[in-house]
Amino acid sequence: MNNDPASKAAALAPPCVAATAPLPEGPFDPRAIRKDFPILNVTVRDGKSLAYLDNAATTQKPASIVCALCDYYQACNANVHRSLHYLAEQATERFEGAREKVRAFLHAPDVRGIVFTRGTTEGINLVAGAWARRNLKAGDEILLTEMEHHSNLVPWQLVARDTGAKLKFIPVLDDGTLDMAAFERRLSKKTRLLAFVHISNVLGTVNPARRLIEGARSVGARVLVDAAQSAPNRKLDVQALDCDWLAFSGHKMMGPTGIGVLYGKVEVLEAMDPFLGGGEMINRVTLEESTWADLPQKFEAGTPHVSGAIGLGAAVDYLHRLGLDTIQRYEEQLAAYTIRRLSGIPGVRIFGRAPERSGAVSFEVEGVHPHDLAQYVDRDGIAIRAGHMCAQPLMRRLGVPAVSRASVYVYNLEEEIDRLVESILKAKEFFRHGT
Ligand code: PMP
Repeated sequence: MNNDPASKAAALAPPCVAATAPLPEGPFDPRAIRKDFPILNVTVRDGKSLAYLDNAATTQKPASIVCALCDYYQACNANVHRSLHYLAEQATERFEGAREKVRAFLHAPDVRGIVFTRGTTEGINLVAGAWARRNLKAGDEILLTEMEHHSNLVPWQLVARDTGAKLKFIPVLDDGTLDMAAFERRLSKKTRLLAFVHISNVLGTVNPARRLIEGARSVGARVLVDAAQSAPNRKLDVQALDCDWLAFSGHKMMGPTGIGVLYGKVEVLEAMDPFLGGGEMINRVTLEESTWADLPQKFEAGTPHVSGAIGLGAAVDYLHRLGLDTIQRYEEQLAAYTIRRLSGIPGVRIFGRAPERSGAVSFEVEGVHPHDLAQYVDRDGIAIRAGHMCAQPLMRRLGVPAVSRASVYVYNLEEEIDRLVESILKAKEFFRHGT
């Protein structure tokens, strides 16, 4: 067995220099990092340069993350936890190393509270299946907001249908913030769970997580935070938040698709039954019954997405390299620029004017259907999203069937927003005259 620390360090050395190269001194310049994202330089639609403004759907990946995946498959592909050979040891070390990186990223007290999932959707379904279905009953209430993504609504509708628990909702005010007075009124001893989106993927609103959690605690309710849109752009601290669970997806924070995390308080996860049964999540199995593995394996049945977890660890490294405060500040600044420029176009209405907001900017253009607009700007190489954004109840609240959404991230430039504005102006002319 080779226990020489130097050879181990060499085997686990980061594969890409790009990920560790220091950033230039001085104020953050997105141009300095764009070279890390080869896809931002591709040409689309007859040689147009790409303006990628669909980051709330998924973010682009720096080369270091693609290299981390490649390196895993080329240098140490093996199943984790199971075998004693060298490759399995290397794979397990990297996989568990990624878990530790995520623990530190969330400032979680214990690595046993970090469960790898397929993404936010699976994390929420895990809590719905393994906790809510077994603990809620008729008369109990689940409190959500009117601005939930379907991922944090449909699982609770299924739980309510099967347990008799009732769904209640915190309304959304016209400026895109939550009606906190109504929140206080809807809380009661019957509230067993508060599940809310930290940042709305439609309105960009940053919800007052601490206040919401304190309110829920005052009536003894458990709390789940959907952090799909907040993990990519700000420091999260699950101990300061004091939530029971928090879910996010790797692909929205520069990591691979198909990997995400459910954080849970250890004592809460300990008290829960497993979600999926199978290999890896057991301790002792007889023909009749089984006992469960310790956390977090109890919730990780089957072969995990090893490369995905390693890629997510590399994404966490990359985010730390840029600095989460820098990312948040730059994204806020660019979102403000986007709102200012879009507001200057006659007939444009912006949805969501919360004072604290992220980079997702939803809007409508009078006389142009969102789908037509998305297709039109795509011809200019600009990627935006159009549709109900997986938030149909919120669309109803806003009184529209669909919206257009430009969502910016740390590598976007003001000039890309200028291109969007120019293209929208052309689209308005085009659809007015039909030429
Ligand atoms: N919640 C929010 C707020 C989201 O924006 C998304 C993704 N659009 C999800 C949940 C679901 O994430 P995933 O599809 O990665 O599971």
